[in-house]
Amino acid sequence: MSNFWLDVADLPQGGRKLQYVFDFKGLNKRLGDVKLAAPVDFHGEVYKFNEQVILKGEISSVLRLSCSRCLESFSYPFQSEFVLDYFPKEEELLEEEKELGEKDLIASHYTNNRIDLSATVREQIFLSIPIKPLCLPQCKGLCLECGSNLNVSHCDCFTERIDDRLSVLKKLKVELKENKK
Ligand SMILES: [Zn+2]
Ligand SMILES: [Zn+2]
Repeated sequence: MSNFWLDVADLPQGGRKLQYVFDFKGLNKRLGDVKLAAPVDFHGEVYKFNEQVILKGEISSVLRLSCSRCLESFSYPFQSEFVLDYFPKEEELLEEEKELGEKDLIASHYTNNRIDLSATVREQIFLSIPIKPLCLPQCKGLCLECGSNLNVSHCDCFTERIDDRLSVLKKLKVELKENKK
């Protein structure tokens, strides 16, 4: 199954429980650089009030991300809860919408009486990606001098730099002493 469409006309007024597992192969194709390491579990509830549809849901999965410090890829389990309001987007509603600018900003839309749940899931996955992903909170990153990964190897660039500065200082001191003589 690659498409997850909710048929709005088919929704009971009392709401319906939803439970899906999104095949990540289908989703991955449309996630760009973002890689999923596990299928996406989705469960939630959907309610209909006249034309308004409220979708309450939760997704969880595992992403493959690149650490922003050491650039290594790592697994990032995540979970996201959301409540979304959907309104129909039809020609005759466009005029009305202009007056409801604020509502328009927070509401999602559906067309042809269908809601594409895979689009909602993709959106929630993108929202779950941290701005600066870290493989570990204490990731040491890469050495700015030689580029080695400081989590797995040790280099002497930093100590060498301190030594350089110390020797410059020593030299200065010697020069100052000599000038005083
Ligand atoms: Zn890292
Ligand atoms: Zn180094």
